[in-house]
Amino acid sequence: MPEGDTVWNTARVLHRALAGARITKSDFRVPQLATTDLSGWTVRESASRGKHLLLRLSAPGRSPAGRPAPDVHWTLHSHLRMDGAWRAYAPGERWGGRPAHLIRVVLHSPGAVAVGYHLHEMTLLPTADEDRLVGHLGPDLLGPDWDPAEAVRRLADHPEQTIGEALLDQRNLAGVGNLYKCEVLFLRGVSPWTPVGAVPDLPGMVALAQRLLAANRGRWTQSSTGSLHRGQTSYVYGRRAQPCRRCGTAIRKEELGERVTYWCPVCQPEHPDRPEPG
Ligand SMILES: [Zn+2]
Repeated sequence: MPEGDTVWNTARVLHRALAGARITKSDFRVPQLATTDLSGWTVRESASRGKHLLLRLSAPGRSPAGRPAPDVHWTLHSHLRMDGAWRAYAPGERWGGRPAHLIRVVLHSPGAVAVGYHLHEMTLLPTADEDRLVGHLGPDLLGPDWDPAEAVRRLADHPEQTIGEALLDQRNLAGVGNLYKCEVLFLRGVSPWTPVGAVPDLPGMVALAQRLLAANRGRWTQSSTGSLHRGQTSYVYGRRAQPCRRCGTAIRKEELGERVTYWCPVCQPEHPDRPEPG
C-alpha cells in the first residue's frame, strides 16, 4: 500500500536513476499530457511530499531572439494512490513491473528508463506553483521540514473528528495511510472511534507515526512489528478474525468514514463517545 514511506522510497529510486540526466525521449499516455514532449529537458531532482511525487525538471530556456536564456523550472507531479508505481530500468532491460496497459509515462535517459504505472493526478506545472497541488498538506512525516508540533496543532483543531479519520487527513499530517493509521492506534491502545479531543497523548501518537514510517524508509516491506516475515509485519492491519498478537482476541474490521479500519476490541477499548453506527 503506497503510504508516505513507499512514496519516499519511490522518489529516491527516481532520483538515483534520473537526477542530473537529460531526457532523450518522453512518452505520455494520459490525455492531459498526450502532446507533451520533454526531450532535451534535464531532471533536477525527485522529491516526495506526503504521498505526492514531485519530479523537478529544467526546460532549456529560449529567448525570443534565440539567445540562451535561464532554464525554466517545471515539476511533473504524480500521485500513487492505492495502486500506482514508478520503476527504473537499465536501458534495454525488460520492463517487468506491471502490465503494459497500466503504463502512463515513460521517460528515457542515457542511463535509465523510468516507467510510471497507474499514476494519478499527473500534472506538469511550474515548480514555483507546486503549492497549488501540495500547499494544503500538513507537515510531511518524512520531509526535511517535519514539524510535529504543527501536526499536533492541526489535529487538535478538530477535537470532534475521530482519530481514525484525522490521522488519514493529509491536511493534518502528510504521509499516514490506512496501514500505519491502524497500527499506530493499536500500539497506542486507542480505539479508532475516539474523538481527537479525548486522545490522551496526541504528541506521543504523532511521534510514533513518524518513527514507524521512518523505520521503513529504504525498504519496500512495510512492518510495524519489527518482523519482515510474510504474515508477521502488522499487528492488526489486514488481520480480520485472526488472534491479536497481544491478547488473542479476534481482530475486527469495520468501516470508518471512507475506509475500513482494523482494531483489537480489548487492547483498544471503545471510547464512550463513539457515535452510534449508521
Ligand atoms: Zn488485543
